[in-house]
Amino acid sequence: MKKLSKDDFLNLRRNPEIIPGIHNYCDRWCEKCPKTSHCSVFITEEAFNEINSKEPDASENPFALMENMFEITQSLIEDMAEKHVFDLSGITEDVSVQAENEFEQARNHPLSRKGNDYFKAVDVLLKGNGNYFAETAERQLMIFGEREESKLLTLKESFETIRWYCTLLAAKLHRAMGTYLDDDIDEEFTRDELFGTLKVSFIATQRSMVAWAKVLEYFPDKEDTILPLLVTLEQIYKTIIITFPQTITYKRPGLDD
Ligand code: SF4
Repeated sequence: MKKLSKDDFLNLRRNPEIIPGIHNYCDRWCEKCPKTSHCSVFITEEAFNEINSKEPDASENPFALMENMFEITQSLIEDMAEKHVFDLSGITEDVSVQAENEFEQARNHPLSRKGNDYFKAVDVLLKGNGNYFAETAERQLMIFGEREESKLLTLKESFETIRWYCTLLAAKLHRAMGTYLDDDIDEEFTRDELFGTLKVSFIATQRSMVAWAKVLEYFPDKEDTILPLLVTLEQIYKTIIITFPQTITYKRPGLDD
């Protein structure tokens, strides 16, 4: 397995097409993203895959890129510490205890709990009804043939959307509440972090609601199980609008222009 060097990494970041921070508040669905050529994360991943395209063990470690990035980041931090004569030793323990407390606080915020409840409920629903959904769709296709194909395509895309965003929503709401509770909201960086993360949560909520509505249209007999999920999504949606109204007008770098 080959690795990107620190210089490779820094050279990739010098690409003038890159929009700084675009990857911070996106939905991480790279295969559907129209901004890949502006994204340093995507460009770095591509470069890593390219140098490893002929390596026989390339697919053995799914965390190889992450480990490579971690090493580079660590080395960059050490360079900075050396440049600014800053001692990095001895701070790890304090920071990790503090981070653990902050993680718990963020997890207990009502908005994070809603995101987590939603994620768990979707997981249970999809696991419990996966066969039913697949068999019903297959039966419809046999009965109605080609006429059913476009409906089934929409259904498939709706399930993909639901799966993708249920994990993302829980993670993003947790991150946003961590920022809200622990950082100084008057700082520009914190505001970007809070409203950028809430904006992608808001979009995830909207898209999930639309996707569930399409699933409900196809499976009206599952109303009792789907409606509570829509209610949870609506609560998240309204809480963001009412409690953090700046989210709606916030423009994420490169994504809301
Ligand atoms: S901006 Fe697009 S390419 Fe970059 S991480 Fe986000 S989804 Fe992927």
